[in-house]
Amino acid sequence: MLKTVTELMLHHQLVFEEGRINLFGMPISMVSPYFVVELQKELEKKNLDNLIYFVARNFGKHWFNSMGDSYGLKMKDVMKWGPNIISLAGWGKVTVRKKKDSEKSLFVTLEKSVNSEIYGKSSKAVDHLFRGLVCGAWSYVYGEDLDAIETKCRAKGDKICEFVIMPKKNFDLTNAEIKRQLLLPNL
Ligand SMILES: [Zn+2]
Repeated sequence: MLKTVTELMLHHQLVFEEGRINLFGMPISMVSPYFVVELQKELEKKNLDNLIYFVARNFGKHWFNSMGDSYGLKMKDVMKWGPNIISLAGWGKVTVRKKKDSEKSLFVTLEKSVNSEIYGKSSKAVDHLFRGLVCGAWSYVYGEDLDAIETKCRAKGDKICEFVIMPKKNFDLTNAEIKRQLLLPNL
């Protein structure tokens, strides 16, 4: 992880100023995942927790677009920096398991998801924030709005979390769980 920080600082992609941190030109701040989990649990009471996925997806796409404009990021850069940034942010260890460019699909795993650890046991997958961010990043890479579902989650008792990212039309929307994860909450 220190190697990532050193490399980013060396290329002025991570800049520390007094009271401000910029990562690839975007201000970032350190917020404990306890905050995200607390927010998620409050939203769940009103059945609005999937909002986190949709907001993270929009934000992820916007962030990678902005990094792309400033740094000319290509797919290989996103493959390299995406997992490094997630790891650096303290969200877990990301691995791209399978990538099918012809189908614009991606299969990734997240080990040691901190959010799901803090969340505790659940009957549902809980990593909406990561699911949205990775989906936004790959929507940028493939130049198309994609969707993502979490097929395995530590909170459900699985060993690691697993995600499938691809165009919405390729998901089986007759499957109630997939449909639930892709449903925009009714505000
Ligand atoms: Zn999970």
